[in-house]
Amino acid sequence: MGIQGMRTDRLAVDGGQPTRTAPFPAWPVADEREERLLLEVLHSGKWGELSGDKVTTFAARFAAFQGAKYGVCVPNGTMALEMGLRALGVGPGDEVITTSYTFIATVSAALSLGAKPVFVDIDPRTCNIDAEKVAAAVTPRTKAIVPVHFGGQPADLDGIVAVAQRHGLRVLEDAAQAWGAEWRGRRVGAIGDAGTFSFQMSKNMTAGEGGIVVTDDDALNDLCWSLHNVGRVREGAWYQHEILGWNFRMTEWAGAVLLAQLERLPEQMPVREASAQYLDGVLAEIPGISPLETDRRVTRHARHLYPIRYDATRFGNHARAEFIAAMYAEGVPCISAGYVPLTQSPAIHRALHDLFGPDSVAGIAQCPLADEAGEQVLWIYQNALLGDREDMESIVTAMEKIQAAWR
Ligand SMILES: *Cc1c(COP(=O)(O)O)cnc(C)c1O
Repeated sequence: MGIQGMRTDRLAVDGGQPTRTAPFPAWPVADEREERLLLEVLHSGKWGELSGDKVTTFAARFAAFQGAKYGVCVPNGTMALEMGLRALGVGPGDEVITTSYTFIATVSAALSLGAKPVFVDIDPRTCNIDAEKVAAAVTPRTKAIVPVHFGGQPADLDGIVAVAQRHGLRVLEDAAQAWGAEWRGRRVGAIGDAGTFSFQMSKNMTAGEGGIVVTDDDALNDLCWSLHNVGRVREGAWYQHEILGWNFRMTEWAGAVLLAQLERLPEQMPVREASAQYLDGVLAEIPGISPLETDRRVTRHARHLYPIRYDATRFGNHARAEFIAAMYAEGVPCISAGYVPLTQSPAIHRALHDLFGPDSVAGIAQCPLADEAGEQVLWIYQNALLGDREDMESIVTAMEKIQAAWR
């Protein structure tokens, strides 16, 4: 079973033994660090953020880890995006420029606030938003740009921040997959006005669910704190609410687990990086398998996903879905077809229709390169990258075996 629950019960591609039968490293990872901190919370009786110190300690440590001044924890990355956008002043009728090759939350966060997502196509080398195409999408209604650091690779923040500065726009980094990632030597998150991260179950550090907004901006941080705590003010009374907020507070259970996960992340990052670099070298030799490129300005990649472009013509015209099923059958179940681009999403079309009318659906920007990625790209999950050299070799062997059988 993969993380997404897909399973196949079939013979290996040549009808014989699968390439491997051993499992890849399990996810999530926890040890006595999580256990000790969870028991501390249990016995303290302080189970909520406002009585305990695990969430606030984690928020400060994680923000520092990302090179940001402040962090406000929330229950998940989706809420972090919605809160971050609202704190940046995004509201009804505003336009938010983003990518269609992303998880739905990037875009649903804007729509939840009554704002309109405007899609810009990707750079096919990285599958990140193409910064050179952003300026052309700016209108008098544009309020913010939300670049996504897809797979853990920072988007072109030089290009995006330059456009934002030129047009007076805010930048919210969707860094949901980019813990520890660096753009030209600086950790992501607070390179834009603010950044959001996710600690959902599949992510490289997790409490099952969780999220955070980080920023260097004092006022933005205070506003996020207030928004996540039903509009309270820091030194105010319990029933003093100055603005309408949400209860977006994280539990101390999640804070405890995340403190331990943050300690482990720096131990895991070089393992994933070494696996990715090995695969970059070896997979480049397989015709029809092309790992995405890493921008030279990316000085640290978070390696959440290892994305590959699959060319069916080099695999006897077997569709990507068949290739994935064959990989499962070969004992490599840590692979996925990835996103359906959001310009094609019925949920996004419905929301656009309801908020902005039928013309907004008919006029949705075409993003042919994101559509192509939606058809060609597949991902290897981060937990597989925690495997050893033999595990990586078996991924390559499985691909070669499938290609030989189908050629
Ligand atoms: C995971 C993810 C989110 C949403 O985070 P949740 O914690 O699942 O709500 C948003 N954007 C991207 C790019 C993600 O990968």
